[in-house]
Amino acid sequence: MSELTYEYCCDCGCETGKAGRGEDSIYCDLCDSGPFCEECFDKHRCTQELQKELAAARAEADALKWFTETLIGLTQVRRVLLNQGIIDSRIDLGVELSELMPLIVAAHTKHTARKGEEE
Ligand SMILES: [Zn+2]
Ligand SMILES: [Zn+2]
Repeated sequence: MSELTYEYCCDCGCETGKAGRGEDSIYCDLCDSGPFCEECFDKHRCTQELQKELAAARAEADALKWFTETLIGLTQVRRVLLNQGIIDSRIDLGVELSELMPLIVAAHTKHTARKGEEE
């Protein structure tokens, strides 16, 4: 028996260059599939989707933070407009945050891009 165990990528079948689980083999923590060669693991759907979700969540969090800061300003403006009788307090947006979220993210992306250009 050879000491070296060659393992093959579960995706493309090429040698992974690693030697079995417990060594530095690459298995997916999410779906437990593997072993993968590095190339296939990069392309593995689980990690990609997780990264996409993480990036989206991060973008939403950033956008929400920015939007909240903007809202504080808007609330002040709104109060002035109310006090001046320019707008009615009954005005209601009537939209869900989930509907607004893509718009907020898009606005934030534009805002960040604009800021980047100024710097
Ligand atoms: Zn592979
Ligand atoms: Zn997976």
